[in-house]
Amino acid sequence: MTEIAVIGAGMAGLVCAQQLTQAGYSVIVIDKSRGVGGRVATRRLFETKADHGACYIKPKGEVLQRLIDLLVQKGDLEVWTDILHVQDNSSSLVANPLSSLAYTAPLGMNVIAKFLAQGLDIHRGQRVDKITVNSHNQWHLTSETNEEFTASSVVVAIPAPQAVMLLESLPENFLDHKFLEKLRGVEYYPAITVMAGYPNSSQQPEWKAITFKDNPVLGWIGLDSSKRKNPVQPHFVIHSSADFAEKYFESELQEVGKEILENAVSTVNLEWLKNPQWMQLHRWRYAFPKTPLQQTCLPAETSSPLVCCGDWCGGNLIESAVFSGIAAAEYINSKLQQRELAGIDFLDVL
Ligand SMILES: Cc1cc2nc3c(=O)[nH]c(=O)nc-3n(C[C@H](O)[C@H](O)[C@H](O)COP(=O)(O)OP(=O)(O)OC[C@H]3O[C@@H](n4cnc5c(N)ncnc54)[C@H](O)[C@@H]3O)c2cc1C
Repeated sequence: MTEIAVIGAGMAGLVCAQQLTQAGYSVIVIDKSRGVGGRVATRRLFETKADHGACYIKPKGEVLQRLIDLLVQKGDLEVWTDILHVQDNSSSLVANPLSSLAYTAPLGMNVIAKFLAQGLDIHRGQRVDKITVNSHNQWHLTSETNEEFTASSVVVAIPAPQAVMLLESLPENFLDHKFLEKLRGVEYYPAITVMAGYPNSSQQPEWKAITFKDNPVLGWIGLDSSKRKNPVQPHFVIHSSADFAEKYFESELQEVGKEILENAVSTVNLEWLKNPQWMQLHRWRYAFPKTPLQQTCLPAETSSPLVCCGDWCGGNLIESAVFSGIAAAEYINSKLQQRELAGIDFLDVL
């Protein structure tokens, strides 16, 4: 029996769990993956690493800037670029100066999540697929491997459509109509991501990344090796457009990857892109919120506290996930003993 169970060890869940743990609550975090970070994901590949989820982190507000400053001091993050390119249908490549610097992690973006995971009690490889309430009015969570967890409060820090599937295991009419309506109204765009490595002799482009506007196949291409300290070879990460991913989500991945590379060849004029030395792919069913809510977290009207949070509460990037995790912690605290929460000072303890 724990006071608070946080489902999901992405940015929102980790920030929320840190805040509550530091305030003195007993907190467990449960995630279906073996690692932490969710969509802030890094894959170890041959002699390098590739960020196949979030590509970079760009602060707008004070909280994210504080987190970035801390990680820069530790040497975990560094400035990647102040310019990103944009290409629209007319094929002209425009260099866009950024409103704030874009930071990346030489050892992979998931160092950010590993930093936030410090000291937390995390149960990995446990997909929570059932949630019920026992006779003592406590939440009872069951994972697909039949691990059981009991908690007096629950934070559901996963993409809204996954939260809908999970919360449907509760008895009908247990959750209020408005709450469910809002949760069900949040949709996501999918993406298919290609990671591909090339011989050292390849002539590298001058740009570090291009965002494609209205391209039917491509969403983004980044020279991921430009984030590494001593890159062994050039490698790229390419995200498909949402339309393309929707159409080919269930198709054979290697074929889909080839098609994405062929399109990249003609779009960015790098003939050698179609012949990688290695290629890996990843499907993101829930990549970016299409219809985020205009609120920082979504509490349910239940007698034992339950709140949903994630990037879909207020935005579609790392920054909104962080804000949402903080808001969820504040909500749970307001329903429990109302202890002193560290606010953004929670970062100082790490
Ligand atoms: C391809 C791509 C590129 C992106 N690029 C950027 C970028 O450059 N900059 C930026 O700021 N943002 C970017 N983003 C968005 C950013 O990654 C997300 O906004 C942010 O990471 C979301 O965090 P989260 O905690 O809300 O959710 P998630 O990261 O999705 O975390 C949810 C966690 O819950 C776990 N989970 C789900 N269901 C269950 C269950 N039933 N039981 C247990 N665990 C469960 C998952 O394993 C996951 O770890 C990108 C996203 C993608 C996909």
